[in-house]
This record gives sequence, structure tokens and C-alpha cells, in this order.
Amino acid sequence: MIYDPQVYAIEDRAMHPFISEKEIEGILNDAIPTREMVREIIAKSLSKQRLSMQETAILVNATDPELVEEIKAGARQLKEQVYGKRIVLFAPLYVGNLCINNCEYCGFRAANKEQKRTTLTHSELIREVEMLEEMGQKRLILVYGEHPKYTPEYIAETVRTVYQVKKGRGEIRRVNINAAPLDIEGFKTLLDAGIGTYQVFQETYHRGAYALNHNGGVKKDYDWRLSSLDRAQEAGIDDVGIGALFGLYDWRFEVLGLIRHVNHLEKVYNVGPHTISFPRLQRASNARFDPQWEVSDEDFTRMVAILRLAVPYTGLILTAREPAEIRDEVLQFGVSQIDGGTRIEMKAYYENGEQQDLDSEQFEICDMRSLSEVMDELIDKDYLPSFCTACYRTGRTGEHFMEFSVPGFIKRYCTPNAMLTLAEYLEDYAQNGTKEKGYRLIQLNLEEMNGDPFKSKLEERLELIKQGDRDLYF
Ligand code: SAM
Ligand code: SF4
Repeated sequence: MIYDPQVYAIEDRAMHPFISEKEIEGILNDAIPTREMVREIIAKSLSKQRLSMQETAILVNATDPELVEEIKAGARQLKEQVYGKRIVLFAPLYVGNLCINNCEYCGFRAANKEQKRTTLTHSELIREVEMLEEMGQKRLILVYGEHPKYTPEYIAETVRTVYQVKKGRGEIRRVNINAAPLDIEGFKTLLDAGIGTYQVFQETYHRGAYALNHNGGVKKDYDWRLSSLDRAQEAGIDDVGIGALFGLYDWRFEVLGLIRHVNHLEKVYNVGPHTISFPRLQRASNARFDPQWEVSDEDFTRMVAILRLAVPYTGLILTAREPAEIRDEVLQFGVSQIDGGTRIEMKAYYENGEQQDLDSEQFEICDMRSLSEVMDELIDKDYLPSFCTACYRTGRTGEHFMEFSVPGFIKRYCTPNAMLTLAEYLEDYAQNGTKEKGYRLIQLNLEEMNGDPFKSKLEERLELIKQGDRDLYF
């Protein structure tokens, strides 16, 4: 032991910084894994208990290939036992790429004069949403640069607009936000507009790496960002998403930073984050980053398995930044949400951007499949794609936690609602042979409910959807 990490731990207080580098580094240094310890920790997670920072560090430091395989097998088992085969789908929509900050890694940063700057007009926003609805999307995340133009009132107005757009049988039923940290009043304004999750990624929990990568604008202030989701909670938004941008610093440190953030929110607000995101750095227009922290595919997939075991009840989000093969592997470890049919160039849904142009997007994505291709592939692999928004709309917040901790919750709500939203998709948007395949999958899932009196209620609703009813849920 180089020093006692406990001595450096910072007490959790609302809206106060809680990350101590010495605590995290000390824990990582002290964690010397043995086979027995790794197995005990995996067993603890499989018994539905979350892991401490020390236990997570043991998994992080376990590099023996056999142990890595056991960690991945543990994550697979947890996913199968607890979550089943459901995968929730969403799409990002970039509303504006004006930005006053200078994040070295981002194509939108103020100093990048080659970036084409756009803020969607009201009618352009409507057009984009219509296109997304015509694909079959029901859940969006709206993304904004940080700029005086993107006030809380402006963001709230765009959220309201999105909810109002109805194209054919389409509608957006949940709007999440990824935008700059706000003050408490600002968060209240967004709460009133009916947002789902508010995401702010810390990017890196390491102050030194943070300072190197954020050279200007408001985002330079590490503590303002770190305390942002506390302010969201103070404003009444209990549905928040945390994240780290993997590739800015040592991934091991970032994993513990994320877990420390979960601990902080649980300690102070009694509720952990709804989701964790773990984007990996991608190529971006005129971006600069230190290649020494690049996260290999091998470390990345291992890291997702560790996160699943460490916080078994938190939603994990994977995006189209990752290529299809990586997505396929980590889906097995319990990623709960993915985006499908993603385009991140400004106006790309309407203008049908098949090509990527680095100068009109934030960064490059690796998975350019359409939503229908992603749906097809999920169905082929027996995953149950879901567009469910029932919990949020019935006030059952914290659904990941409930899925995990309330016995029978998934069987009673999540799986049936996934089937209902899949049936809607099949009726309204499926192409080629997807409809037949999709109904076969629904049938298979129904057979697993044999003997359950609830099955007939679900069958009735599936029949109503075939006859034209929409938005049915439990
Ligand atoms: N401007 C706001 C902010 O910085 O929080 C809103 C979101 S920003 C448009 C969305 C996220 O994209 C950032 O938090 C960052 O993690 C991620 N990002 C930025 N540049 C990236 C890159 N080159 N590769 C992958 N992700 C990147
Ligand atoms: Fe602006 Fe966000 Fe990009 Fe930083 S990550 S330059 S704040 S859009």
C-alpha cells in the first residue's frame, strides 16, 4: 500500500466536488487480484449486489486471460438472468453545433473554423423529426453545443416542438437531452418541458487530463461540470445520465471515477444515475488527442463487462461510435440501450446523409446501418427490440432499478411492452421479410408465458395493434 486511500476520500455533500485522485489511484494500486477474489466478486454481483470501488478495481486489474473470460461470462450471465433479451432503441438528433468551448477532441469546438455551423430552424427541426418518425423511432436524444443561443428556454422550446410532431402514425414519446450543464433554474425549465433523461458526461474524471483537453469557454471549469447533475437533482430531475469519454486518460481511472460518481449520487440523493455512457474517442475535424490513452477493443469490451458487474441495476448505453462487431459483443454483456439508424451530421435525416463529412459533424461514427438493418439483425439474433416508454409516462421513474430489484417487474411490464412496441414497428415500418420474422419472435416470447394468466391480456393488445390501435402499454 502506498498510502491509505480512505484518508484522501472526500466526504459527499450536495453540489460539492467528490473526486479525489489520490483515493482512486490508491484504490487501483492496492487492488491485487487473486482468482478467488475475482470469483467472489463476480458471485456478489450475480447475487444482485452492486460492487464497491475496491471490488471494481480488483476486476479492472485482473488481466489474466482466464479471469477476463470469467468476468465476461459473469456479465453475460447477469444480463441473461436479470434483463433477458430486450434492447431499447433510440436515435440522436443534433439541434445545433454552435459552441463557445474548446474541447480539443470535438469537431464543434470554437477554434475549429472549418466546421459548418448550423442551428436547425423550427421547420428544419420538424422535418428531421418527421424523418425519424417515418423510420419508426419513438425515443430521441437531442444534442446541442454550448452557446448563449441555447438557453434553457430555447432547449425547452425544441423539446416541446419534438413532442408535437406527428407524422403518419409516428410520434416521439420520450425526449432525452445531452447539452451543457445548467443552473438549478435552467434544469427546472427543462423539467417543465417534460424531458426524459438529462445527460452530462464528465469526459474525464482526472483533473490534469481535463485541464489539458478543455482550453476555453465555460467547460474549462471541472467542478461546475462535476456538480451539474447534483443541480439537476436539486431542480427535481432525478433521471440523469453520467458518462466518460474513453481515450482522454487511463480507462481504469475513468471506470473508478464513474463508480465514485454513482456512489455520490446515491449517497446524497438516494438515487443513482439512470444510465452510464462510455463513448470512445473517434476521429473528428481538426481534433487533437493524446494517442497514449487510446482504448483497445480488448480493453473496451472488458471494461463494459466490468461496468455491468459493478452497477448491475444501471442502464448502459452504447452508441454508433462503435462498429457493428463491437456492438454485437458488448450487447451480450448487458448493454441496455443502443441507437439505430444514427446520423450525426446536421440535417442529415432529412437530407439523407449517407456520406460522412467531418466538417459538418461532431465526430465520425462507425456504425452507419439504417434502423431497419439494426432491427433486422437484432431480431435474427433473438434480441427483443423495444421502443417502450411506459415507465416514464406512467411516472414509474428509475425503471432500470425497478427492473432489477422488483421481482417479476420485467416479466410483467418490460417484456410485454417490448412486444407491443415491436408489433407497432412491424405493422407500420417493417420492410421486406422483417414483419414475418418479427412476429415469429413475438410468438416465441409469448410461448415462454404459457401458463401465465397475463398472457391473454397481452395477446388481446397485440390483436388491437394489428387492428390499428397504437400506444398500448402496461
Ligand atoms: N456540448 C455539450 C457537452 O459538451 O456536454 C453537449 C454534448 S456533446 C455534443 C456530446 C458528447 O460527445 C460529449 O459530451 C463528448 O463526450 C462526446 N464527444 C465529443 N467529441 C467526441 C469525439 N471526437 N469522439 C467521441 N465522442 C465525442
Ligand atoms: Fe462544444 Fe460539447 Fe463539443 Fe465541447 S464536446 S466543443 S462543449 S459541443
